[in-house]
Amino acid sequence: MDLSYILNELGEERSQYFNAMAPPIVQTSNFAFRKVEDLGAAFADEMSSYLYSRGINPTVDILRKKLAALDGAEDALVFNSGAAAIFAAVLANVKAGDHIVSVKKPYTWAEKMFNVILPRFGVSTTYVDGTVTENFATALQPNTSLIYLESPNSWTYAMQDLKAVSELARSRNIITICDNSYCTPVYQRPVELGIDISLQSATKYIGGHSDVVAGVISGSKAMMKKIFDSEYLNIGSGIQPFNAWLLIRGLRTLPARLNQVTDTTSRVLAYLKQHPKVEEVLFPLDPAFPQYELAKSQMSGACGLMTFVYKTDRREEIVRFCESLQHIFMAVSWGGHESLVIPKCAGIHPTHFRPELKEHRMIRLYVGLESADYLIADMEQAFSGFSG
Ligand SMILES: *Cc1c(COP(=O)(O)O)cnc(C)c1O
Repeated sequence: MDLSYILNELGEERSQYFNAMAPPIVQTSNFAFRKVEDLGAAFADEMSSYLYSRGINPTVDILRKKLAALDGAEDALVFNSGAAAIFAAVLANVKAGDHIVSVKKPYTWAEKMFNVILPRFGVSTTYVDGTVTENFATALQPNTSLIYLESPNSWTYAMQDLKAVSELARSRNIITICDNSYCTPVYQRPVELGIDISLQSATKYIGGHSDVVAGVISGSKAMMKKIFDSEYLNIGSGIQPFNAWLLIRGLRTLPARLNQVTDTTSRVLAYLKQHPKVEEVLFPLDPAFPQYELAKSQMSGACGLMTFVYKTDRREEIVRFCESLQHIFMAVSWGGHESLVIPKCAGIHPTHFRPELKEHRMIRLYVGLESADYLIADMEQAFSGFSG
C-alpha cells in the first residue's frame, strides 16, 4: 500500500463527518443501541462493535488501520504507552511454567517485567547476546514460549537478524515479539520479516512532537484479537481518543520529519566522527558500525539517535559538556522536534564512575528537527571549554 495513501486517506470516512479534513475526536465512553439484538452482538464480539471506549472507539480505529498498514500487518492495537503495549503483548503469550528468551538489556520496563513481575507467576527469562543468532537456539528450553527482541536497541544499536530468528522460532512454535521503536515502520517492518508481533513506542516518532505517550503492537488478526479479548480489555490501557487524534496528526508528517532528521543526522555524525574529544560514534548505518551489513539488509533507514563515547578520564568533563549545551536539551525520550542528550553517567553513582569503561563515557544524542549548523555550533561551544 502506498505510504501517502496510508497517511492521508486510509481509514478516513470523511463523508460521515461533514467531509472535514481532520477526523473528529469521538470523546465518548459509551455508544447507544436501538435493538437488544445489536447489543447482544456487541457483547458477543466487542472487537467488531462500538460498545465502550475501553474497547473500540472510532478515532482510535482510524489510527489502528493506518498503523497496521504501515507495519504491513493485518491489524494493530494502540495503547496508552509503549510500556503498556509491551506488558499486554508479553502477558498474552506466557503462562505459568513458561520460559522466555530475551535479547540482553531490552528496554527498561520490559526487563522489569521479566525480572520482577513474571517470576512471581513462575515465568523465567534467559538473556542472550542477540547479535549471534545461534545464541537463541542454544538458550531454548522445552517450555520456551516467547522470544523477545529489540532491534536495534536505543543505546548501542545491537541488532538481531530478524528473519533468521523468526524462522528458528516458527520451527519450534515459539512466538516472537520485536520492539521496533528505533526504526519506526517507515524504516523497518518486522512482521514482513516473519516476526509475530511488532511493537513500538508511538511516543517517539509517530507522535513526533513530545506531547503524547503511546504504544502500538501489530500482527495477525488472530493475534490482535487474542490480545484484545483479554489483556487489552482487562488491563484497560488502551489509548484515549484525544491522544489517538494527536498520533493521526503526527503521522501526516512522519516521512517528512524522518527525511529531515536523516539529513541532519548524517551531518552531525560526520562532525562528531572528526572531533578530537570523541573516541567513537555508534550509529547503525555508519559503515564503521560492527553490524552495518545487517542494518543495511533489514532496515531501509535509521533515524536521529546515535551514541558517542567522550574521550576523557574525568566525569566532570562529561557533566560540563552536557550542562554547557544551550539549545540541545537534557531529557529522556526522543523522536520529537527537539534535540536531546543523555549522559550514561547520570545513572551511575559518581564514586562508581570508571573512565576505563567506554560505556560510562557514553552520551546518547537525539537529532531533532533543528538545522545541522545550529546543533553543531551548540556542541562546538560546549566542547570548546575543554579543548585547551
Ligand atoms: C520509549 C521506549 C519504550 C516505551 O515506550 P513508552 O511510550 O515510553 O512507554 C519501549 N521501547 C523502547 C525502545 C523505547 O525507546
